[in-house]
Amino acid sequence: RGKKAFIAGVADDNGFGWAIAKALSQAGADVILGTWVPALNIFETSYRRGKFDESRKLSDGSLMEFAKIYPMDAVFDTMDDVPEDVKANKRYAGNEKWTVSEVAECVEKDFGKIDILVHSLANGREVAKPLLETSREGYLGAISASSYSNIAMLQKFGPLMNKGGACISLTYLASERIIPGYGGGMSSAKAALESDTRVLAFEAGRKWGIRVNTISAGPLGSRAAKAIGFIDDMINYSMTNAPLSEKPLDAIEVGHTAAFLCSPLASAITGSTIYVDNGLNCMGVAT
Ligand code: NAD
Repeated sequence: RGKKAFIAGVADDNGFGWAIAKALSQAGADVILGTWVPALNIFETSYRRGKFDESRKLSDGSLMEFAKIYPMDAVFDTMDDVPEDVKANKRYAGNEKWTVSEVAECVEKDFGKIDILVHSLANGREVAKPLLETSREGYLGAISASSYSNIAMLQKFGPLMNKGGACISLTYLASERIIPGYGGGMSSAKAALESDTRVLAFEAGRKWGIRVNTISAGPLGSRAAKAIGFIDDMINYSMTNAPLSEKPLDAIEVGHTAAFLCSPLASAITGSTIYVDNGLNCMGVAT
């Protein structure tokens, strides 16, 4: 039986979510996507027009297919949480059932139980502002979109996961070391995500027999990272200073680690933050 994976946070072929989808597809899993509502239309149009065909290629030459793509907004748990202006927004109005609980219900109805849950999304409106200048709203918004969304997903999808299943999220070194420029409460959100990974590993392990881990990834020039503004500097810094300095991090290296962590090969790994960063986290001084 092929495993079923639900991945939230894919809207183009540049980010970690796409690479994880590819590694899981390559390993024989059926991949179901949850794509941010405002990004869905352009993603589906580009997909249909063949824009991603080159990066859909698997090792046997076939193209990666998604079992289904659902609209999703991980900031809302039920329709009662959605403010009127979002409901009326034209990018949302044409879609339905995109809150976390509704997406989980749809996935269960369409596919039954799943084995793998991937959270590959983050958002912090004030990411470019230092923490000292971050507003309460900006900070809480970053935590809501980037940390609580992971809890919400596990709450709603946990009951439909097979025993032995696994969850993965993506985190960043700024949770534990000072990375000037990663502001707006995003560093705090990643610290929460890593702490929650441990607590959720305990709770979900006892409750459903599933594993919960997070991957601390090195810098990648994804769409989200480009929006922060300093990603090229971070990639250069890593290539100058990391133990493995010859090459930039390739998203598929994170994809492969995710596939390993979601497989029975990692059956005793849970609650862990796994670094996939060319070793940069180990360095104490710049070289
Ligand atoms: P990405 O742009 O490919 O992925 C982020 C996704 O989040 C996008 O598809 C976006 O549409 C989606 N999203 C934003 N708000 C959402 C919401 N409310 N509901 C649902 N989806 C929403 O960029 P990425 O860099 O691959 O990011 C994936 C994860 O990797 C994030 O958690 C990010 O913090 C983490 N990460 C990135 C880097 C890096 O350098 N790029 C490094 C370490 C960790």
